[in-house]
Amino acid sequence: MPPRLSSIITRMSAGHHAQPNLFEESAPNAPDSAGHPLVARVLIEDAALELDYSIPEALASRVQLGTRVHVPLQRHRAAGTVVQLLPDSSYHGKLKPITDTIGTRPVFPENLLKLAHWASTYYLCPLRIVLRAMLPESVRKKPESFLSDSHLTLARMPDAAEMEKLHKSAPIQARIIEMLHNHKGPAALSELRKELPRATQVVHILVKKGIVDRAEVRVERDPFHDEEFIANAPHTLTEEQRIALDKILIALDPSFSNPPTSKPFLLHGVTGSGKTEIYLQAIAKVLEQKKTALVLVPEISLTPQTIERFKARFSEGHQRIAVLHSHLSDGERHDEWYKIHEGRADIVIGARSAIFAPLENLGLIIVDEEHEPSYKQEESPRYQARDLAVVRAKLEGCACILGSATPCLESFENAQTGKYELLNLTKRTDGKSMPLIRIVDMRLERRRTKDGFSILSDRLRIAVEQRLEKQEQVILFLNRRGFNTALTCLKCGETANCPDCSVALTFHKTDNRLVCHVCGTRQLPPSKCKACGDPSIRFGGYGTERAEETIRAIFKTARIARVDTDTMQRKNQLRDTLRAFRSQKLDILIGTQMIAKGLDFPNVTLVGVLNADLALNLPDFRAAERTFQLLTQVAGRSGRGETKGEVFIQTYAPHSPAVQFARHADYAGYAEQELQHRKQFHYPPFTHVVLIGCRSKQEALAEFTLQSFATRVKEKLPPETHHGEVCPSPLTKAHGQFRFQWLLRTARVRPLLAHIQSVLSSMTLPEDIILTWDVDAMSLM
Ligand code: ADP
Ligand code: ZN
Repeated sequence: MPPRLSSIITRMSAGHHAQPNLFEESAPNAPDSAGHPLVARVLIEDAALELDYSIPEALASRVQLGTRVHVPLQRHRAAGTVVQLLPDSSYHGKLKPITDTIGTRPVFPENLLKLAHWASTYYLCPLRIVLRAMLPESVRKKPESFLSDSHLTLARMPDAAEMEKLHKSAPIQARIIEMLHNHKGPAALSELRKELPRATQVVHILVKKGIVDRAEVRVERDPFHDEEFIANAPHTLTEEQRIALDKILIALDPSFSNPPTSKPFLLHGVTGSGKTEIYLQAIAKVLEQKKTALVLVPEISLTPQTIERFKARFSEGHQRIAVLHSHLSDGERHDEWYKIHEGRADIVIGARSAIFAPLENLGLIIVDEEHEPSYKQEESPRYQARDLAVVRAKLEGCACILGSATPCLESFENAQTGKYELLNLTKRTDGKSMPLIRIVDMRLERRRTKDGFSILSDRLRIAVEQRLEKQEQVILFLNRRGFNTALTCLKCGETANCPDCSVALTFHKTDNRLVCHVCGTRQLPPSKCKACGDPSIRFGGYGTERAEETIRAIFKTARIARVDTDTMQRKNQLRDTLRAFRSQKLDILIGTQMIAKGLDFPNVTLVGVLNADLALNLPDFRAAERTFQLLTQVAGRSGRGETKGEVFIQTYAPHSPAVQFARHADYAGYAEQELQHRKQFHYPPFTHVVLIGCRSKQEALAEFTLQSFATRVKEKLPPETHHGEVCPSPLTKAHGQFRFQWLLRTARVRPLLAHIQSVLSSMTLPEDIILTWDVDAMSLM
């Protein structure tokens, strides 16, 4: 007989479970008369199950909402999370007891659990997948695995005679005693061991003798252990900054309303207008009130420079800032997370997933560069961290600031309609005007050059020369890495494509390989065409690697560095390169979007965008918006110091609105015309998009499956829903799988989601088929 599950079993196919309504107050689960609940509903981590367990007396105080627990499941032990506490179970058999708790406190504070439920419902994603995404893997798999060390102090100093004896019979003991005697405060055993490899055993003897006291201490892996931060005092605010901050301070003021119930702020400020200064001063206020602050920044701008600004401002409490991003080691991430979990951090700065940082007592959530596409997670749970920030702020009853020089149109529209409160910073704090932006029409340039191809136009080349002569610095931006972007046969026109993906292979000269930027496949470049055998194959197009080579050849004496994911592999390499540039040990920085954001180099007076059309040509309704944002951001890197900055934008589409509005730094003008289009054709922000994707190694099967899904959805399409046709994705093949997609747009997303949910749960998918759904999709590739 199979072992009986102590359970109510709820099948948990995608989101197929009862969801509490987020903003509806539900009565807390009533405890029994003795004061604690009797039953815990546990969401199992590795299976789609939600089961009831009894709570043993001994664990009663530790089993709380959001606690991770071990429970018996069939013959095994499974890990799960307590998602509900109940006075009783509707299961009629005898419940099995929870085996133990994992950790001593709930890993999910109640508000985070609510956020998880919200995300689960909205993104149509099982709750356990959301909860899994909320914990760093190192915390989930190895909870509370801290490093430790021993701190040693001298319990008593042996007298002279005893020391004399020790010097003869046990010189290492004597040496350690002397070291401890001369040491200020406790000495770390790990330090002693560096000098005396046998210290561990010898210390053990000394402890036994009662000469040395030893205390075990936890050692934190601090990603910034070797950094010093020089305190930096708040600036006196400009008039515009003052007005903006005052509004935020009112929202933070508990006497104004407690908890604050303000709308989210949209802080729209041109680059260099002092948005970060506003964040810092708002955070200072939050800390004053003994509350905590969460700051999200895009991964890419989680540069040492950004973190330094926060650490420097709050340097007294250096240890009270926690940082979460993907470049931490597992150990560092584990320790930073526990720093937050144990209430030892007041400020958390992190990338997208830091929206799940278990901070309690939140006073403020900030999302910097809120328009950044990287806030969207592109795998399940496909959440948008910016939107979760707004939801979490509402749940926590705290203030929320979304900041950007180029707000995404969704946020801008929310500000227009009064859902968000708009705060404007129109001037740079240094009083400088925005840099001069010049457009270089590459169509004319192409006619001039003999091979019809030019990386650096004459105008930009001359401008660089002039800046170098004056010992000013230059940034050249190109959002594509590699040397050549295509390898084409001149005879038959065949292009070397990845065998598994529908993209051309990129040539990387440094390692002499053709690389697929989708799946990472690498191969040696062929000496002749694979299709017709002709040797006249030719490389075309260019990435940062080739741009670097070209530019080095033109400016022979200039000191040049390239920043992209290929050159920045080594730990701290990015930090070191940016520092070298900042301290003017470099003249020209060539890079991808890694150098487009949040960097502040006072001596940079010229920025060149080598190819503005890369983003513009993507088959995506947001292509123009992205281009506008990118050009504006990049331009903001120029002229931050004393000298007026200049920007050259090389483009084959000089008259496109994105380029023209960016040239005049005219966000409002840009937004107005783009919003008109979006409204007319029912695109966001006037609708939500839901992108259904289907992929399989079998092309026909993928298409057929998506077609049948679409047919089912169309049968009962909620009103105000627009949809296109099922079609191959722009990236038609990746990792050997054929990809199809279907885009839905609706002004009222909830009914559509419910409908999709019901179709999904009634469908059985053939094997080898992956069906995905992406609510508020950002990438339409
Ligand atoms: P943003 O985040 O909007 O790009 P920053 O906050 O980085 O702008 O500010 C740009 C520069 O101006 C920084 O070097 C910052 O230290 C400085 N700054 C900010 N506010 C002031 C102020 N009120 N007075 C003088 N300098 C300021
Ligand atoms: Zn590939």
